[in-house]
Amino acid sequence: MSNIQQTLSIIKPDAVERNLEEKIKAIFTKEGFNIVKEKKIKLDKSDAEKFYKVHETKPFYNDLCEYLSSGPILVMILEKEEAVKNNRILMGATNPKDAEEGTIRKKFGISIDKNSVHGSDSPENAKNEIDFFFQN
Ligand code: UDP
Ligand code: MG
Repeated sequence: MSNIQQTLSIIKPDAVERNLEEKIKAIFTKEGFNIVKEKKIKLDKSDAEKFYKVHETKPFYNDLCEYLSSGPILVMILEKEEAVKNNRILMGATNPKDAEEGTIRKKFGISIDKNSVHGSDSPENAKNEIDFFFQN
């Protein structure tokens, strides 16, 4: 049975800064993701803190929120069969050093913090993250 899903993707500041937006979007499109909506924004630190609230107890939380709000990001809704899982596979491991050949983080990630892309990790979080950025 088909299971078309939407997931939230973010091209993070390190990748926008290096002008990788079109290259990364081309990878999504080539892999069969439909970019349903997109917008380029710059978050305030308080927005980043809300977005990453699940990580608030982690030692890297403050740096993570500083980083995500440090420059423009491109936020997208991606749609595809099993989009959540397939996007996570295409992104690769959180630490680019551990990411498989051919993944976005392997190609473009600089370090565990500057890893170029975000992707929702479950259908429920995808819905919440899409609403966070694209509520009408
Ligand atoms: N992160 C970090 N240090 C760590 C773990 C994570 O800076 O030790 C950052 C990294 O940018 C990651 C984000 O926090 O993308 C969210 O972490 P998560 O474990 O949710 O990884 P992801 O879902 O992005 O692969
Ligand atoms: Mg995550």
